[in-house]
Amino acid sequence: MRKIDKNREPICLTHYKKQNKTHNYAEFSGNNRDCFDELRLALLQESGFLCCYCMQRIVINEGNETDVKKNLSQMIVEHFKPKSVYDGTNGKKNLHLDYNNLIATCNGNQSSKGNEKKHCGALKDNGEFVYLPNPASDEFAHFQTKIKYKERGSEIKYLENPVDRKVLIVAPTNPDDIENDELVGTRLGKLNLNESNLAKKRYAVWNKVKRQLEQENWERSKIEEKIKEYSTLYEKTSMGTIYHVYHEFCAMVVFFLEGKLLTIKNEQ
Ligand SMILES: [Zn+2]
Repeated sequence: MRKIDKNREPICLTHYKKQNKTHNYAEFSGNNRDCFDELRLALLQESGFLCCYCMQRIVINEGNETDVKKNLSQMIVEHFKPKSVYDGTNGKKNLHLDYNNLIATCNGNQSSKGNEKKHCGALKDNGEFVYLPNPASDEFAHFQTKIKYKERGSEIKYLENPVDRKVLIVAPTNPDDIENDELVGTRLGKLNLNESNLAKKRYAVWNKVKRQLEQENWERSKIEEKIKEYSTLYEKTSMGTIYHVYHEFCAMVVFFLEGKLLTIKNEQ
C-alpha cells in the first residue's frame, strides 16, 4: 500500500450533491453514468491506476492498448468507511458520496465462491477497519512511518518464499490479535493480501527486479535511481491518451531496494 494524495472531487459530483439532498451511492452510480465514469477515472488517477490495497494494476492492461472507459467496470469504488453503516442513520454520518471516503480497488475475485480467493474490497465488503487508516489520509502516512507496534515495528514488510514462489506480506496492523490481523491474518484478515495468486504476481515482479539487480550488478547509485523510478508516476499511452501510472507493486519494490541499500551501507 502507498499513501494516496487526493485531488479535488469532480465538479459533476459537487453539482450532483448540491442538487440531490439524499446522497445514495447506488442511486448516483445507476442514474449518472457520465459523472460516475468521471468519478472512477479521478480515483484511478490519484492511485496511479493501482488498487489502493493490493497494488496490482487496474483498468489499464499491461502491455497492450486499453480502452480505459470501457474497462472501468473492472474496478470497484471502495467506501473506506462502509456505506451500509455510514448512511446517515443511527447517528452515523452519510459518507456515500464523501470524496475522501472513496478510493479505487481491484475487483478482488469478487465473483469467486467462498472467501479463500477474495481479497481487497471484495472481501472487506461492509467491514470496517479498527487499525488501518484510510490510505488517502495523512494519518496513513504516519501509520507507515511513526506507529510502533511492539517489536514487530511499524512497516508493512514483504517476505520472499522461493519454495512457494510467493512474496508474502507481514503486516503489523494488529499485533495483539494475529488471527484477525487486518491486512493478512491467519484467517485471511479483512483484506487477504496474501491470497495465493496475488502473492505469486508479487513474486514475479520482485524476482524480475532481483534478477536484474544481480545480473547487472547494480551499484548504490543505480539502486537509488531505481527507488526513485518506483516512487514516481510515469507516462503510459493507451488508445492515444496519456495516463500517469505507478509501477505495479511499487511500494514492495521500494521496500526490497531500500533493504539492499542498507546491506551495501553496512558492508562499506
Ligand atoms: Zn486489490
